[in-house]
Amino acid sequence: MQEYPEIVVLRLGHRPGRDERMTTHVGLTARALGADRVVFPDNAGQSRDTVADITDRFGGPFDVELTDSPRATIRGWEGQVVHLTMYGERVQDVETEIRSAFTGGEPLLLIVGAEKVPFDVYEEADWNVGVTNQPHSEVAGLAVFLDRLFEGRELDRDWADADRRVIPMETGKRVEPADSEPDSA
Ligand code: SAM
Repeated sequence: MQEYPEIVVLRLGHRPGRDERMTTHVGLTARALGADRVVFPDNAGQSRDTVADITDRFGGPFDVELTDSPRATIRGWEGQVVHLTMYGERVQDVETEIRSAFTGGEPLLLIVGAEKVPFDVYEEADWNVGVTNQPHSEVAGLAVFLDRLFEGRELDRDWADADRRVIPMETGKRVEPADSEPDSA
């Protein structure tokens, strides 16, 4: 994939137990679909460990970290801030403008919530963006938004420092050590 400015996903809120899988999947989706880093609240250490483990095994670069002040991450962000919310402007109406800023060199902070997001976040964001204006999930919103932002290019990215790679197959599951020679067809 070509070089882009940094894109960081910020997960706002995490209810231990209840949100464990959702927060982990926010991180895994951010990693798989082209973000550089995910920031979780500091009570989401279990999700952080899972995402770091997947990155060790399946490759990166991708960073996962915790913060005790997500709001400071927003306030201190040097770049554009996009907040994904069902109440926002339609992604299809604003994606070109956001992509122009991003490909023009502006790093992007992409915020997703868990429970109710404080109104200040709506005001601090440069864009509040809805992936439809229907309620669904932070994982779905993130996936569609990243795919729109990268116009599908994230699907072709290369992975570094993996210890294994999955060989795409019509049927069956094949995983090989990452340092093995690809089959010549
Ligand atoms: N009811 C909460 C509120 O008012 O902020 C939202 C809870 S929702 C389960 C969790 C997160 O999913 C939201 O904070 C938002 O980031 C994301 N989300 C849900 N529906 C969305 C949509 N249609 N478009 C974009 N993001 C969405």
